[in-house]
Amino acid sequence: MTDQRSYDDRDGVIWYDGKLVPWREANVHVLTHALHYASSVFEGQKAYGGEIFRLTDHSKRLKRSGELLGFEIPWSVDEIDEACREVLKANNLEDAYMRPLAWRGSEQMGVSAQQSKIHLAIAAWPWGAYFGEDAIRQGLKLDIAKWRRPAPYTAPVESKASGLYMICTLSRHEAQAKGFNDALMFDWRGQVAEATGANAFFIRDNVLYTPTPDCFLNGLTRQTVMDLARRRGIEVVEKAIWPEELESFQQFFLTGSAAEVTPVASAGPWSFEVGDLTMQLRKDYFDLVYRRLSNS
Ligand code: PMP
Repeated sequence: MTDQRSYDDRDGVIWYDGKLVPWREANVHVLTHALHYASSVFEGQKAYGGEIFRLTDHSKRLKRSGELLGFEIPWSVDEIDEACREVLKANNLEDAYMRPLAWRGSEQMGVSAQQSKIHLAIAAWPWGAYFGEDAIRQGLKLDIAKWRRPAPYTAPVESKASGLYMICTLSRHEAQAKGFNDALMFDWRGQVAEATGANAFFIRDNVLYTPTPDCFLNGLTRQTVMDLARRRGIEVVEKAIWPEELESFQQFFLTGSAAEVTPVASAGPWSFEVGDLTMQLRKDYFDLVYRRLSNS
């Protein structure tokens, strides 16, 4: 059973600037720079059977995301790794979603924030399938978002920055209001990009295709799945994908730390089958995260 309580009203502890604090006390002031100007970056990672999958890669990306927003998180990658393990243990969790978040504090107000303190918090909670179990059997129904991933010269697109999610929330809300699970986003050029919180993969005649991540996150799950496919001798092609090509693909799936490997049944006017290769890669992914499959 998922916990229906609000995320500010739960039991447990949250790692907050070096200390474990009671869940309900992990708060910020309303004049926090990050709330006004989106000066925050975050991670989403999962623990499987007590181990956080690709933990150090997530901590490195968090540090890098901060740098891309012009700030340095005052904890090292090793310290962030350790803090993540500590918060998992302190909450007695084995299988959990984890959310590290770094943000500019309230020392300065206005667009400039050179004097603001950089904070870091890490929370963990049990979280099942991101899209629900039905979606996995039937495949997701995706809308086509009207918002487009921005050009790399208009935003720090390699950063997992909160501000970049504004159009994701808008797109997913619009999709859900129409009965879809999520939305597929095109980019500023009109090329296929990704979903609102997960990368996209397509299959045609047993070859895997995925858009080149030049204006959106090159997800860690994306990289893992490309590696798993190559291990099976499957050709992986990274390239620009235009919407016209979508009708030629037989399968479509999403990848992400939360989305894991989730099949897609339709995107706008295009339909796909929940096929064997998608389900095989999904199984390989779970074998890897639960350490039934070696890392190389
Ligand atoms: N794109 C977006 C917009 C995301 O939010 C995520 C989830 N972090 C991804 C892609 C997939 O990234 P990862 O596999 O590293 O979780």
